[in-house]
Amino acid sequence: MQNISRRDFGRLLAGGGSAASALVGAGMSLAPSAARAQQLRIRDAKTTPSICPFCAVGCATLIHSVDGKIVNIEGDVRSPVNEGTLCPKGAATFQLHVNPNRPTQVLHRSPGAADWEVWDLERAMARVAELTRKTRDETFIERLADGKQVNCTTSIFSLGGATLDNEWNHIQQKLMRGLGIVPIENQARI
Ligand code: SF4
Repeated sequence: MQNISRRDFGRLLAGGGSAASALVGAGMSLAPSAARAQQLRIRDAKTTPSICPFCAVGCATLIHSVDGKIVNIEGDVRSPVNEGTLCPKGAATFQLHVNPNRPTQVLHRSPGAADWEVWDLERAMARVAELTRKTRDETFIERLADGKQVNCTTSIFSLGGATLDNEWNHIQQKLMRGLGIVPIENQARI
């Protein structure tokens, strides 16, 4: 690898180029570094073809895993749908699986409390169901004043998350509409 001084590097950059073009301009080949980075990321990984779960475009992905753990997800260049590209949401699919910042427990904060309390999933689901049923029963409108049948409640709003996939949203719609809930939205469309 050719040595290049800080001053020479700055001079090349000042000439209007990028850091990469400055290095190439100085006679430095970037090929070995790029090849090594690509090799390290998916070396020894098993490749599983898949489909991005998020929207109906259905972009194809390649999931790389080592010892059963996902190490990388990227677009599949063989797909005529996306030709290897992914939108920002699809490109972040890896972080849906591997993300130390993602809460993995149900957190509940009681009214007026300052701290969050960890709840087990069963307890949380039972509480959500209890409040949904109670609110629906107390606010359900069968008919308007003019006698028109509407069978709805406007007191519950359903907001889906950006990582909900097609199938989940389909079931969510059926459940919410079955309860008579009118406002149904998904964060991805806001
Ligand atoms: S990558 Fe983006 S456009 Fe493609 S299926 Fe996923 S969400 Fe839809």
